[in-house]
Amino acid sequence: MAGLTVAALLAADGRRVLVVEAHDTPGGYAHTFAMGAYRFCAQVHYIFGCGEGETVHEVLRRLDLADSVRFHRLDPEGFDHVVIGGERFRIPNGLEKFRDRLIRRFPDAVTPLRGYFDAVAAIGRELDRLPPRLGWRELMTAPLRLPHLLRYRTWTLQRLYDHLRMPQRLQAVLAGQAGDYLLPPAEVSLLLHVALVRGYDRGAYYPERHFQHLVGSIADRVRGGAGCQLLLSTPIERIMVDGDRVVGVRAHDGRTFTASRYVSNVDPRRTAAMMNRHRLPGGWGRRLQYAYSSGNLTLYLGVSGIDLRDHGFGSHNVWHYPHDDLNAIYRRQLVDLNFDEPWLFMSTPTLHTDAPGLCPPGHQILELATSAPHAHFRHLRETDRRRYNAEKKRLRDRMLAIVEERYVPGLRGHLEMRVMGTPVTNERFCAAPEGNAYGAALTPASVGLGRVPAETPYRNLWLANATAGYPSVAGTVRAGFDLYRKLAG
Ligand SMILES: Cc1cc2nc3c(=O)[nH]c(=O)nc-3n(C[C@H](O)[C@H](O)[C@H](O)COP(=O)(O)OP(=O)(O)OC[C@H]3O[C@@H](n4cnc5c(N)ncnc54)[C@H](O)[C@@H]3O)c2cc1C
Repeated sequence: MAGLTVAALLAADGRRVLVVEAHDTPGGYAHTFAMGAYRFCAQVHYIFGCGEGETVHEVLRRLDLADSVRFHRLDPEGFDHVVIGGERFRIPNGLEKFRDRLIRRFPDAVTPLRGYFDAVAAIGRELDRLPPRLGWRELMTAPLRLPHLLRYRTWTLQRLYDHLRMPQRLQAVLAGQAGDYLLPPAEVSLLLHVALVRGYDRGAYYPERHFQHLVGSIADRVRGGAGCQLLLSTPIERIMVDGDRVVGVRAHDGRTFTASRYVSNVDPRRTAAMMNRHRLPGGWGRRLQYAYSSGNLTLYLGVSGIDLRDHGFGSHNVWHYPHDDLNAIYRRQLVDLNFDEPWLFMSTPTLHTDAPGLCPPGHQILELATSAPHAHFRHLRETDRRRYNAEKKRLRDRMLAIVEERYVPGLRGHLEMRVMGTPVTNERFCAAPEGNAYGAALTPASVGLGRVPAETPYRNLWLANATAGYPSVAGTVRAGFDLYRKLAG
């Protein structure tokens, strides 16, 4: 999304832009693929930043798309439902409303709850004031202007919980959206958690005509630009450099492309690897030593003969947790490779909008996701394809069994389509190293000043993506927009 954003904005300014994309369709994780009569968005389920004046809306407005690419807002009284050990909590828009609901349900926890929501508000106010780039002046005055960001910059969410003596059940509820950064409370940066929670708090959105229309509309702005082109199925293999400048890129089919300026939407470390150099200049190599976020399993389902609204689904997502120790749940899956009781994210795009396009009339789509380690699946796929497929089937069956037991009895009798993606699928179709879901892991070490910058040691090469920027559609559109302003300014 970051690459398409910067390309479309530059094309709209009348610049000549060439986008070279490896896949046969644009959008990366936000692309839509077809399976029989069904269409599935590869990974994106709901987004923030679409309200008037917010990043996604502002970019669409500049592209003259704000009237044609419109959004439905997920239920403001509960856009995310968190179900822990069978107990359901609805997350509404309005953090004060959410706080008061929880205080009514957990009157003994009024002090930690107030402490948590006060910290979120204080950090959030300072995040809103943060300039896109911190110069010396901002850093010098930070203790006065940004005291909470400074205080909490190395904290995890768990550290805040421990500090406030947050009861275990509430720890799980408040981190119920943890799959949006794929880290448990013990590892996620508190600042990142706050940014995510506040992003969706302002509004959780789904495109009225699905993600294929959002992505396709932006891609068409590139295609429609004078002298602009969007080439598909053209993976770039090599970036040629001369001194401190990029002088061309070479594609898999041997073609080379040259330009005066280059933007890479590819993972930063992979971008550097394409230069084929032993040593990277300017300490860049050290900046690129980040750990990747975890991979994930996604199960795409086409359903007929039932209405998922009769089973607790609707204009919201459902986050399922078997119990309230999220740290243990994540560890079991990612370290012990134990998927007996995984957490599950469940999303129903066909209940977010009435627009046709994803499935035959009367059918619905249900998507399930959970975290999974890349190395395990890569090893199986490379050494024994049959075991890889058997493992996929085993986990798929376990996920379906949980949904049948807890949410939709007899679901398997209504499935017209079932397709499972693993971290290896992410690597194959979206070129995500190690199948990472969200770029560099969102721990305190790589959030804030530790983030990879858009600038590179090469004078005419910039980065824009989930790692040189922040993940999510809103985060990567913002990375593309910020870079556009640098390049156009
Ligand atoms: C399971 C999961 C669920 C998610 N859910 C949500 C959600 O609900 N809401 C949300 O906002 N975000 C969600 N995200 C995150 C979001 O999808 C990503 O952060 C965002 O789409 C990443 O955008 P990007 O610009 O970094 O590029 P990517 O999406 O990574 O795209 C990179 C592009 O570069 C291309 N490419 C790579 N290498 C080459 C090469 N050598 N040559 C040419 N082209 C190349 C790829 O084919 C791809 O098109 C989710 C992610 C995952 C994995």
